[in-house]
Order: sequence, then structure tokens, then C-alpha cells
Amino acid sequence: MGLDSHASLFAPPPPRADGRVNLAGLSRDELAAAVTEMGEPAFRAQQLWRWIYNAGETDFDRMSNIAKPLRTRLAERFVVARPAESRGQHSFDGTAKWLLRMDDGQEVETVHIPEEDRGTLCVSSQVGCTLTCRFCHTGTQRLVRNLEASEIVGQVMLARDRLEDWRAPEGERKLTNIVLMGMGEPLYNFDNVAKAMRIVMDGEGISISRRRITLSTSGVVPMMQRCGEELGVNLAVSLHAVTDELRDELVPLNRKYPVKELLDACRAYPGTSNARRITFEYVMLKGVNDTLADARELVRLLDGIPAKVNLIPFNPWPGAPYECSTKEAIQRFSEVLMEAGYASPVRTPRGRDIQAACGQLKSDSVRQRRARPAVDSAVSAPI
Ligand code: SAH
Ligand code: SF4
Repeated sequence: MGLDSHASLFAPPPPRADGRVNLAGLSRDELAAAVTEMGEPAFRAQQLWRWIYNAGETDFDRMSNIAKPLRTRLAERFVVARPAESRGQHSFDGTAKWLLRMDDGQEVETVHIPEEDRGTLCVSSQVGCTLTCRFCHTGTQRLVRNLEASEIVGQVMLARDRLEDWRAPEGERKLTNIVLMGMGEPLYNFDNVAKAMRIVMDGEGISISRRRITLSTSGVVPMMQRCGEELGVNLAVSLHAVTDELRDELVPLNRKYPVKELLDACRAYPGTSNARRITFEYVMLKGVNDTLADARELVRLLDGIPAKVNLIPFNPWPGAPYECSTKEAIQRFSEVLMEAGYASPVRTPRGRDIQAACGQLKSDSVRQRRARPAVDSAVSAPI
């Protein structure tokens, strides 16, 4: 491709305070455009791509197959940066949480949950969330904005740095899976999430397969088809209730996209099969949605959908209007599902000592700015 054909593709992100532009987070096309605008041949973009996304290199001077004068020119215009880390916390059980500060001072959290056969990174898609699910603390946060693609990829890159994962051989990687289950509704920021996931999935870069990525949505029905077609990632749906009446209250988005429409969109989700099921998330709220009748109705609703159900013990936060169901209630609920043939694992709380639970993420990043230390809570191991 010639110079001109790339020129229109590169709308560089706003430069940082030092006037340089961050290359981490650029797509292949954008990187190619940035390079050709400097008068360099296109293969340089390929070299940079591998350094940035495959080797995790941040210093142009260590990019050994790029001539020294060009390294200097690159460093004058560009950086390869990560979001700033405000705080990193490590649980006794290996769970790690990083509070990240973006260039405008806004903060989000990223959590790494190691398990025997995998390591999952829980990634945020927005600062806060515009939706107001009643059991979720993130939904009470006033300040909300979409994260840029670079800020989403930046979470993954920072985690790879901290886990010293860039050079680890394939079978020894600590970060193998991604769940878009942190702060925010990913389907309300689809373009940036999609761009970020394309970068993450690229086989010559970070190379995490779409089969190891799960996007969780509260039910943004009109975006689900696109998500399946364009990204092909696993889908998790935050169902939480089996009637419109209750779901209207718990997940107010239900008033726009009621249960039937949501389940129809699940039936139509591309690429679903018995080997590749949709995960339904169901938060267990004492005396609200946890009866045997609820479980049986759930079985009825899921009929015909290759599904598994993830039961999430409710993680309380100060002032929350709910309590977590009893262990026995969760157990009984799970048994009904299993008898009907649905795997229904209960999410195990992890890293209780570093407060990073589903739906509690607001508390920490907001509290961090006011006072330390934060209160105790729990982190849940996703799927
Ligand atoms: N916005 C998306 C993804 C982020 S929330 C969504 O709602 O799906 C990730 C999961 O955490 C969702 O299933 C959500 O319902 C659940 N969750 C939120 N608050 C919670 C809480 N207090 N306790 C347990 N799970 C919670
Ligand atoms: Fe937003 Fe998800 Fe929390 Fe609902 S549960 S408020 S959609 S982050």
C-alpha cells in the first residue's frame, strides 16, 4: 500500500503531556499508517507489532532489528506505554488486583485469578456503568466514560508485565483467559471493546484465542448478534431473574429488552453449540430469586439453548439492599439445574483479603481517592 492510502487511516490518539503518541493500543492498520507517515516501509509496522504485542517491549532502544537512527526517530514521536498503576494488591491465594489510572485521572480495576489449569484476567470496559442494576455497586458510580481500546488492551499488557508472562512458554502462561466482567457494560462500548479484542486475539501478538475470551452482558440485545459475528467470543448473560417483573427491578435494562427477547437473542447467538455454551450468570439473593420454583422456571426458560449456569453468591457492599442466599439455598438451586442437565458451578470467592468482587469495583477505586485502606470484601472466580 502506498503512503496516501494509509494517511486517512491514522487518526492518532491525542498526544500525551510530552507530545508523544502511545503506540500500544493501535490496530495493525493504524500502526502501518503511523509508520508510512514517517516515510518508512510497511514491514516496519510488522516488526513493531511483534515487539509491542508479542514481546511486550516498551523501549525502542531494545528493538534490535530496527536500525538505530530509526529507533531514535520513533522515540521522538512515540512511546509504548501502559496505564499507570495506582496500586497493586496480592491475595494469599494468588489473586492479584491492579488499580489503574488513565491519562485523565480516571481509575479502573483489573483482577487476575489464577486457577490450576488457567489464569483469568477480569477486564473493565468502562469507568463506572450507566446501567443501574440494584445489586451492583459499580452501577451507583456517578462518573462514567467509555474506555478507549488502548486502555482496554493496556489492562492486558500491564497484567502480562506484572505476571512476567511475555516470554513465558505457551504452556506456562499465567494469563490464558480473559473475561470482560470488570467495570462497565462492554456492549455499550462495543467499538472500543471489539478493537481491543481484535488486537488481543491476533496470532502474531498477544494471541489469546476467542475461545478463551468471554464477554458478559446485562442483555444489550441489539448488539449481541454483532458481537457473535464480528468477534466470535464466548457469551455470558447476566440473567439473575426468571420473570420480567423481578428482572425489571434487578436489571432495569430489562424494561427495554425483556427476558423473552434476551433469550431469543441467545438462541440466535452465532457459534453456539453443546461444546460452546452460553453462560447464564445468576446472582443469588436471599429471599428474592433463590427458590426451587425459580430454579425450575429457569430450567424451562433455557430449554433449547446450549447453556450452563454460573451461580454467583451475592457480594455485599455498604448500603446494599440485598443479602446473599444461604449455602443450602444455593446448593438446592444448583441441584435442580444439574438434574435437568445443566452444569451449574457456584463461583468460589477468591482473594477475600484484597476486595475485588463482582459488582464491588466502584467502592474500591472511588474509596482509594478518599482514604485508605479499603474495607474487606471478596473476589469471585469467573466461570
Ligand atoms: N456489565 C456486565 C459485565 C460486568 S458485571 C454485566 O452486567 O454482565 C459482571 C458480573 O458481576 C455480572 O454478572 C453482574 O451481574 C455480577 N455482579 C454485579 N454485582 C454483583 C454483586 N454485588 N455480587 C455478585 N455479582 C455481582
Ligand atoms: Fe453495569 Fe453490569 Fe453492574 Fe449492571 S451488573 S450496573 S450492567 S456493571
